[in-house]
Amino acid sequence: MRIVLLGAPGSGKGTQSQRLVETYAIPQVSTGDLLREAVGKKTDLGLRAKAAMDAGKLVEDSIVLGMIRERLAQPDAERGFILDGFPRNIAQAEALTLLLADLGTPLDAVILMNIDTAVLLKRLSGRRICEDCGRVFNVFTSPPGSLPNCERCGDKPRLIQRPDDKEEVIGKRLEVFEAQTKPLVEHYRAAGLLRVINADAEVETVFVDLTAAVGRPAAVPGVALRR
Ligand code: AMP
Repeated sequence: MRIVLLGAPGSGKGTQSQRLVETYAIPQVSTGDLLREAVGKKTDLGLRAKAAMDAGKLVEDSIVLGMIRERLAQPDAERGFILDGFPRNIAQAEALTLLLADLGTPLDAVILMNIDTAVLLKRLSGRRICEDCGRVFNVFTSPPGSLPNCERCGDKPRLIQRPDDKEEVIGKRLEVFEAQTKPLVEHYRAAGLLRVINADAEVETVFVDLTAAVGRPAAVPGVALRR
């Protein structure tokens, strides 16, 4: 299964990807995580990406596309993958289509995680991440103790807040989503790949909708698919 999770920052792409990984045993490919890892290791690429990330802007397409090419060529992506946070603009979507056409492995579905901006603001400001295992918590909706056991952190998450989840950067990230990423909705609708789910619900409810949407036939071009 090869799917894209499309949604604004805070719509739950990372959380739902984690569930999909457990259910379908395919990797989550998050460009945000790959970039944060590069920044943490202070690689050349990480240093080039850091300023844009700190400002809530998109990192150059060439950097992100190079990462994606490398990641999708790994053996664990042969059976499928969940793209989380990629593509983020039309140029990236077109490059992805070409890359997957070369590999002979087109996308199966693009799931739009639909959610209101007011909810996003609360989610982003409450989001915390375990420094050891990478699990995503939320001080309002899924505090420590609410997620399944973790062998890596021994269920004692060391929570940190992403620098770009600070209030002053959140507004910019949502602006970038509206301007650059939202056009992908029509792009993928026209390609017959788009499925829409309501992301403003309990994690488990969203997950049930998501797994149903993954198995649902592709949308008719030009027609919104709503539950
Ligand atoms: P995320 O964890 O997906 O919210 O990504 C965090 C930040 O990484 C974004 O605000 C961007 O600065 C950068 N980033 C992640 N994915 C992409 C992408 N596909 N294209 C450009 N920049 C990205």
